[in-house]
Amino acid sequence: MTETTTTVIRNADWVVAWNSDTERHEYLQGENVVFRGDRIVQVGGHFDGEFDHEIDGRGRLVSPGLVNIHSHPLSEPMNKGFLDELGSPGLYMSSLYEFMPLFRPDAEGTTACTEVALSELLLSGVTTLTDMSVPYDNWIDLLDRSGIRAVLSPMYRSARWYTKNGHVVEYEWDEQAGRDAMAAAMKVIDQADAHPSGRLSGMVSPSQIDTCTAELIRDSFDEAQSRGVPFQIHAAQSVVEFHEITRRHGRTPMEWLSDIGVLQKGAIIGHGIFLNSHSSVHWPEADDFTLLRDSGAAVAHCPTVFQRRGIAMQSVGRYIRAGIPVGIGTDTYPHNMLEEMRNALINSRLMSGNPFDLRTHDIFDAATVGGAAILGRDDIGRLAPGAKADLFMADVTHPAMRPLRDPLRSLIYVAAERAVRDVFIDGRQVVSEGKVAAFDLDDATARLEEAQRRAEVKFTELDFAGRHPLEASPLTYEVVE
Ligand SMILES: [Zn+2]
Repeated sequence: MTETTTTVIRNADWVVAWNSDTERHEYLQGENVVFRGDRIVQVGGHFDGEFDHEIDGRGRLVSPGLVNIHSHPLSEPMNKGFLDELGSPGLYMSSLYEFMPLFRPDAEGTTACTEVALSELLLSGVTTLTDMSVPYDNWIDLLDRSGIRAVLSPMYRSARWYTKNGHVVEYEWDEQAGRDAMAAAMKVIDQADAHPSGRLSGMVSPSQIDTCTAELIRDSFDEAQSRGVPFQIHAAQSVVEFHEITRRHGRTPMEWLSDIGVLQKGAIIGHGIFLNSHSSVHWPEADDFTLLRDSGAAVAHCPTVFQRRGIAMQSVGRYIRAGIPVGIGTDTYPHNMLEEMRNALINSRLMSGNPFDLRTHDIFDAATVGGAAILGRDDIGRLAPGAKADLFMADVTHPAMRPLRDPLRSLIYVAAERAVRDVFIDGRQVVSEGKVAAFDLDDATARLEEAQRRAEVKFTELDFAGRHPLEASPLTYEVVE
């Protein structure tokens, strides 16, 4: 790939093209998409110019690559089979406090987790990823190798949470450690910005509203503003956290973020579910929804991890209609962005009892131009001349895509990653015929499985009740000899 290498996708059956006059995606049929170097030069019509590569677009959908604004690739893939139906009955069914901190990959496991997650993301059409991780040695190297466009979001905090009984969450504070970790995180952001690939950038991310001091959160937001980068914090993500903040401050999580000056444009709230109006929270004399709506802050919506525990936003359609900027992320395994989009659509209908609460275009927009805007970019998430050549091609002849009437509906509601064949980022092919170029997925998965066995041994040592993993999370059926 050189500056001038020109690739033509010829006669694509379907193209999701960006119309810059109406500021909307629209479908084209049987037309061409052309990119040169890392940029798109033509979308639609016929291309008669010189080219280096020609791709047959017949039988293909050409779509802008998906923009993911929230994920934790370093750990989440390991939870498959363990956390699928596990919550804490004493902690409003969240698994954040009793289980997740105890079931963690070691250093080798982290690499395996990340390789698997990045592969799944690419295979489901993600071209831009926000990776929220506690920094580790080969982080930048893995992201660079994958070919993905990455927003490194190094997490840090002033306290860790734990429980000694499964029904009370406690916090162990070390404010200086939080400060030191913030300083280290800023160095990682500097490294990302200076990376020669040009595909890496940074985001400022104090981890959670209940584990960071007000000063750390405020200074982090100021740092993000002065650097011109986005800011994200987990907030309104559990009933426990809602009550922890009301107990400490007499204010809801949204009110408290507003009080300390960070609920405003430039802030991303992951996940923004437990507003005072949520039916699991009895707190009638507040108006978090209006506060959030008028603030300009955005929400990172990741429904899959919550729906497993019977928890959902009420409802994402309502947020979007109110004009709250909503982007999509994958907070858990599988790192399947298309399934995450499907879950967002279905959850919204279940919560509202209304199939018109949210339309497919609302979520496709959130996963493309919407997420891009939240990240401060107008050159990704769209197929338009001048935009980055970040796109994927799906096989519309795949049985899961047929009968083919509306390719995005077939893709999101049924086929998902099964139909994704080729992915390009900066004009460089990172997935070919359904295979990720950078990683050996079979090998990474085998290493992930070994890491999961090692983590199971550790779980018993760390658990307050010393439970065996089979006791904490029994298998679907007993294994008989
Ligand atoms: Zn998260």
